[in-house]
Amino acid sequence: MDEHLDGAGFETRAIHAGYRPDPTTGAVIPPIYATSTYAQDGVGGLRGGYEYSRSANPTRTALESTLAALEGAAHGFAFASGLAAEDTLIRALCKPGDHVVLPNDAYGGTFRLFDKVATVWGIEHSPAPVTDVDAVRAAIRPGATRMVWVETPTNPLLSIGDIEALAAVAHDAGALLVVDNTFASSYLQQPLALGADVVVHSTTKYAGGHSDVVGGALVVDDDALAERIGFHQNSIGGVAGPFDSWLVLRGLKTLALRMERHSDNAEKVADFLARHPAVSQVIYPGLPDHPGHALASRQMRRYGGMVSFRVKGGEEQALAICAATSVFTLGESLGGVESLIEHPGRMTHASVAGTDLEVPADLIRLSVGIETSEDQIADLERALG
Ligand SMILES: *Cc1c(COP(=O)(O)O)cnc(C)c1O
Repeated sequence: MDEHLDGAGFETRAIHAGYRPDPTTGAVIPPIYATSTYAQDGVGGLRGGYEYSRSANPTRTALESTLAALEGAAHGFAFASGLAAEDTLIRALCKPGDHVVLPNDAYGGTFRLFDKVATVWGIEHSPAPVTDVDAVRAAIRPGATRMVWVETPTNPLLSIGDIEALAAVAHDAGALLVVDNTFASSYLQQPLALGADVVVHSTTKYAGGHSDVVGGALVVDDDALAERIGFHQNSIGGVAGPFDSWLVLRGLKTLALRMERHSDNAEKVADFLARHPAVSQVIYPGLPDHPGHALASRQMRRYGGMVSFRVKGGEEQALAICAATSVFTLGESLGGVESLIEHPGRMTHASVAGTDLEVPADLIRLSVGIETSEDQIADLERALG
């Protein structure tokens, strides 16, 4: 991390890490270095350590330093998507015959990557609920399990896993704890400080925050681990381009402000839904009746912007509600300033239909944006009828 930021708060790091005003122009924001190669002063005479933009690019470097600084870590890596980051991590850490414990309600794309891609290369996986430390311990195959993979909160059921306890279980077995921190964001949750070894982000979501870029990140503190990941990032090449890096970097500067407002608005939406007669269950870690509420209160700064709920009337009613909102746009993804509504069973989680990861048909997932809260609630009230 930049020395001038030692001890600085999250918001200060978000704005000042990774880049200082350009010495020649004074530009306070890193330019989009749209260049593939760099002139050398004699063979091997690199000016800023830059040689070729797959290996490193100054705009991406600024983003990678900021990602690291925000997780209190030494090393950040930016990728073309969250799944590109995950794929690189799998190849950096696993070989044929190795095994990974996955959340039993993992992000659909993560599950597909393990189930349909990694399996072909001999990397095995088995599911365990992140809420149950004993079940995770039981799913570990001694000598073979390389990673215990955790999402918390999970998607779309917003279950909470105890990062500290899961890190101990993974480490006892000689495995690494990987935490997908996409739903919480670095602002709400700091997995490395709780004992995790690797943090994964889809920066497409809260990190970017404006639904205008697809990206991913890996953040680690350990130097040897960073070297392996860096080698694989360059060897595989799924890197974030300079413009995408610039967009995510711009998003990160307001992450703290946005997460505060996402959390404010989601708490109000969850309260409203919990009192609505057409709603059978509200799933939000900020509600006292959520099974992970106490744990979330300990390991998260606030409860975030994602709210899931189930409706009376089954799938048909859920689909009708998804089609009836207007402040909430019907669409996949999450974490942008605008509110989104979706039906996981038919949309984001369609690929897990018929498996253990199938989600209830009457489930609706909201990504509560930062619009005026009253407008969000009025929109839901109209749609619920
Ligand atoms: C979106 C998402 C991913 C995948 O990221 P992409 O940027 O879409 O490749 C991984 N994990 C979680 C929790 C996500 O929400």
